[in-house]
Amino acid sequence: MAMEFKTKATMQQKKKEAQDTQPNLRIGENLRNEEWEIESTENQTSENRREPQEQNKEDDEVPITVHFDHGNSKQELLEVLEMGFDSLMVDGSHLPFKDNVSYTKYISSLAHSKKMLVEAELGRLSGTEDDLTVEDYETKLTDINQAYEFIDTTAIDALAVCMGNVHGKYPPSGPNLRLDLLKDLYGLCSKKGVHVVLHGASGLSKEIIEECIKLGVRKFNVNTEVRKAYMDALSSPNKKDLIYVMTSAKEAMKAVIAEKMCLFGSAGKAC
Ligand SMILES: [Zn+2]
Repeated sequence: MAMEFKTKATMQQKKKEAQDTQPNLRIGENLRNEEWEIESTENQTSENRREPQEQNKEDDEVPITVHFDHGNSKQELLEVLEMGFDSLMVDGSHLPFKDNVSYTKYISSLAHSKKMLVEAELGRLSGTEDDLTVEDYETKLTDINQAYEFIDTTAIDALAVCMGNVHGKYPPSGPNLRLDLLKDLYGLCSKKGVHVVLHGASGLSKEIIEECIKLGVRKFNVNTEVRKAYMDALSSPNKKDLIYVMTSAKEAMKAVIAEKMCLFGSAGKAC
């Protein structure tokens, strides 16, 4: 789903357009470093540069990144490469390992030539996300030896790991995460300079999230809870008018996102 962020005036219009139309965007920790800064005032000409006092407060820079999530078709990702995203996810987790490697390597090389960050998934999450459904809770965990080869061969920047996390809702018994595996994967990723990503963060307790952060996770994907807030707002019996309903649904999503940003420790980093 598209998240509405307060974008800065210097962010290219094409990013804004892509953000408004893409159904797959998720919130996560900003993975950019200085190398990938979108635009600095040094690059502006005297004609287009505005003095600070002229800038509207609405135009203040906010260090966000616009990420394309779960690109599981080559054609789709080739189109995404032209849209001006800051980063993308190559999702070849439905493929046999060798095919996932070659698919990810191919897109990774093209994305890096455009200075985009690349996330990829190894292993297979169970559950439902968007239109993607795999058998419930038959999680295929990330294999540490495959991860070594995968990272080396594809040169990715971030690895989405599978260690019992699921897309969608966790069962009533709660999540059963293999934190020992996460620790091992982080050990490998940190040596290789690769960020660890956790999909399926909806429904994880504060304690588990904090443990995951301690064990190296630097980007969480949250979708189910945000969608639920939207749908709950729409189904409120007191809200009949379309404009009011749409506004309140967006506000409901914002509240969840704000809560998650605080939980993940990414709140208050914009200045
Ligand atoms: Zn995901």
